[in-house]
Amino acid sequence: MRWGFEQTYAETLSGFYVPGVPDVAPAPALVLLNDALAIELGLDPDHLRSPAGVAELAGSTVPDDARPLAQAYAGHQFGQFNPILGDGRALLLGELIDAHGRRRDIAFKGSGPTAFSRRGDGKAVLGAALREYVVGEAMHALGVRTTRALAVASTGEQIRRERVEPGAVLTRVAASHLRVGTFELVRTRGSVDQLRTLADYAIERHYPELVDAEDRYRGLLGAVVATQADLIASWMAVGFVHGVMNTDNMTISGETIDYGPCAFLDRYDARAVFSSIDTGGRYQFGNQPPIAVWNLSRFAEALLPLLAGQTETAVEIATAEVERFYPLFDASWLGRMRAKLGLTSAPAEADRELVAELLTLMQSERLDFTGTWRGLSRSLRGDLDAVRGTVLDLAAFDAWQERWRTRLGDRDPLVVAAEMDRVNAAYIPRNHLVEEALEAARGDDLGPLVLLLDKVTSPYDEQPGGEAYAQPAPADFTDAYVTYCGT
Ligand code: AMP
Ligand code: MG
Repeated sequence: MRWGFEQTYAETLSGFYVPGVPDVAPAPALVLLNDALAIELGLDPDHLRSPAGVAELAGSTVPDDARPLAQAYAGHQFGQFNPILGDGRALLLGELIDAHGRRRDIAFKGSGPTAFSRRGDGKAVLGAALREYVVGEAMHALGVRTTRALAVASTGEQIRRERVEPGAVLTRVAASHLRVGTFELVRTRGSVDQLRTLADYAIERHYPELVDAEDRYRGLLGAVVATQADLIASWMAVGFVHGVMNTDNMTISGETIDYGPCAFLDRYDARAVFSSIDTGGRYQFGNQPPIAVWNLSRFAEALLPLLAGQTETAVEIATAEVERFYPLFDASWLGRMRAKLGLTSAPAEADRELVAELLTLMQSERLDFTGTWRGLSRSLRGDLDAVRGTVLDLAAFDAWQERWRTRLGDRDPLVVAAEMDRVNAAYIPRNHLVEEALEAARGDDLGPLVLLLDKVTSPYDEQPGGEAYAQPAPADFTDAYVTYCGT
């Protein structure tokens, strides 16, 4: 079967990938298919559900026009440079032009070893693939830019991880898989001409408005800084902890990529870390903006040979562009936080302290992050204990609430509450619910996962009977929760 693939990466960037072949799955079975995304990509869900389609989604049969390849990249992992990483358990099949005319990469994760697997087995396990599916789709529904899952197919294999688990192949859809680490590789291993080819390819694919710009490489750096500033602000607004923000996991497109040890905040804690390997807390919730700047500095360094200008040196240009991160991040973040509080009156700056004080209160009271925003809109509707009933320091809360209500002025509280509910989710993939759903799925019961997906893909609309999905995790769960990279 032909999927309609194009192959611009393979054709343009020779030398920066190694062809690969997916493993044949002993017993392919479809676990989840994203029908809406399939249709958006011009694929036929009926075909993908047929035995021939399932064999393709499990990696057993390669679509006729696919050209599977493992992309090469480098990267800084926890601050240490690794000159060769590459797709150790992923294969790019090709690109499809979607219904909106956008070029999207279609790639497998977990389809077997590649030239970059080192000692890894190249496989993925069912729990991890389903976790990427549900968290990615939730992020998409929350309006956060992200790669998405087209399908999860189980392979019939048993894979050894923390324990033995069913093997699976995730089909991932991305604006592209170009990352900061791709540029780091070309900068260290390639020529300046190859770096220019890569940069031109990235510009044409993601920032076509820059194609004819005189200083287009500076423009590329600036555009990636801007899109990442907004992306990280969107993570901070929904309480998302990526968990492994290595430079090979930061895209040039500005999409969230690589759902490994990620988690959503339960009780608010700026120092929250979930990943078992992040022992130093490098990627804790509150560190995500400075880590993004650190990663973008690595991107700027890789671009240096292309940046020298008429009057400024390359380093001056790189520095100036990376320094734009904080003002951009800050504006995006403050705008999002104000919207979460229903605040619309100028000046925005006047609300900065109000937001900061609420976060301080959430931190000291360990309030449920997602639930608190939704509780505040309930309090506007008259449920005065919605948040107040969860805090100990009533004087501090009352004083804050008083200032908030003053800033809202004489606007109709019901109208404000409705606005807040359009940006504050009732449902996120809460860690305890995700783990419960994955455990059931490992035992062949997809019911809980399907119900969870149903909630988190319509995150703002409270559903009858959905109360349990909006409840905080039990405290003993939250405090002990640990996530794993290769899960
Ligand atoms: P990640 O932490 O998922 O970004 O992966 C970091 C690097 O390890 C990438 O080069 C991956 O391709 C590689 N990797 C992760 N898991 C495996 C695996 N099971 N087999 C081979 N390579 C892997
Ligand atoms: Mg990765």
